[in-house]
Amino acid sequence: MKVYNTLTRKKEEFIPLEEGKVKMYVCGPTVYNLIHIGNARPMIVFDTVRRYFEYKGYEVNFVSNFTDVDDKIIKKAIEEGVSANEISQRYIAECKKDMEGMNVKPATKHPLATEEICGMIEMISDLIEKGYAYEKNGTVYFRTRKFKDYGKLSHKNLDDLQSGGRSLLVTGEDEKEDPLDFVLWKPKKEGEPAWESPWCDGRPGWHIECSVMSKKYLGEQIDIHAGGEDLVFPHHENEIAQSEATNGKEFAKYWLHNAFLNIDNHKMSKSLGNFRTVREIGEKYDLQVLRFFMLSAHYRSPLNFSASLMEASANGLERILTAVANLKHLLGVASVEDMTVEEREKVKETEAFVKSYEAAMEDDFNTADAIASIFELVKFSNTTTSAQSSKEYLQKLYDLIVKLSDVLGLIVEKEEEMLAEDIEVLIEERQAARKERNFKRADEIRDELLKKGIILEDTREGVKWKKA
Ligand code: AMP
Ligand code: ZN
Repeated sequence: MKVYNTLTRKKEEFIPLEEGKVKMYVCGPTVYNLIHIGNARPMIVFDTVRRYFEYKGYEVNFVSNFTDVDDKIIKKAIEEGVSANEISQRYIAECKKDMEGMNVKPATKHPLATEEICGMIEMISDLIEKGYAYEKNGTVYFRTRKFKDYGKLSHKNLDDLQSGGRSLLVTGEDEKEDPLDFVLWKPKKEGEPAWESPWCDGRPGWHIECSVMSKKYLGEQIDIHAGGEDLVFPHHENEIAQSEATNGKEFAKYWLHNAFLNIDNHKMSKSLGNFRTVREIGEKYDLQVLRFFMLSAHYRSPLNFSASLMEASANGLERILTAVANLKHLLGVASVEDMTVEEREKVKETEAFVKSYEAAMEDDFNTADAIASIFELVKFSNTTTSAQSSKEYLQKLYDLIVKLSDVLGLIVEKEEEMLAEDIEVLIEERQAARKERNFKRADEIRDELLKKGIILEDTREGVKWKKA
């Protein structure tokens, strides 16, 4: 399997640190608002990377943080007159809803920065002890020039950075030994959340969070570290400096970065007023369409969000859904059980689609080509099946389309609608349970029906039901 490594600027063969296992860390969002569709890109892309590794039989330990202490969270909390914790908890819950809608699997672990402060203080202390960090009036800085490999990920030269960095100096930072040094710990300001530390009551810098959480949940060395391309510098460069200075080992083997998502060929930004949240998109489209749209381009190519491309994605997804629904229908009417000799030959032909699909995914996760292979398979299925096909053959095609779509996180099986008579049976059971004062069972039945989109209403004429 080949992956493009930002560190070497090459596609490299993926060799895991430990056989059969992948340790992967993806920088998560800062939670002060509903996530926007730009944030959704790394979520969908790296969830797909994870799913492909799992398809190949790897055990993936996937860690993705929530940055729940940050200037933007504090600002929002002040605006609303609530605590920073209330803001971050609210938007973590909302983010998880959006992730579920986009069929992004929960990470093995979603650490919160505020729950890992002890580890951050420990790592900062260790960096001070090793001479990589120093304290000035309560602020702790990383001594950038001391880390010899600084710039290796972003391919930046320290002297160029120095001349560019000077103009960025802001008041209060003049006490740094070097303009290149960055903050590991900062003193609290009035009204801000703060933690005790050996230096002052304060809070950590953003970069130290990920070095600490990655080490705690995945170990000193990991296979893959990922995020959007804006994180290459300074965030990931600084993470490397911190982690490698403290651990004395290479931090991550492969660095993967997704390109940006633009809107109508413009950068998405608050000031341009062209910001779109995942929630808004979910009101107009099934979020599966958004997922399909994100995967219809290579993750390292810039992607442009537009109404027409979303329409095209909706149509593309529908082609797969229709083929799967047709197979389901044929399975219901088929009378022959076992495959004929010709059908066996046809099944062999489908191996070519699986091969091209895997070849695409193994070439640095080319999901656009992988989707094209699914389309080929769909066409093959549409043209080689009929009411005369055997159940065995139909089931094979059905399972294959569902499996390959599932690796991309695309749900292509339509929820089966409940039959009216099945609903009535459950309602009767619920009434009986209530008579026996078994309210637990009665509630279970109500919830079960609700999950299938059936709402119960207790009326004077008895129990009525309707579709949600
Ligand atoms: P943030 O909350 O800004 O730290 O962003 C969370 C993740 O979303 C990071 O991996 C960013 O690189 C990524 N991201 C933010 N905006 C975009 C965008 N317009 N396109 C693609 N990725 C983005
Ligand atoms: Zn990070």
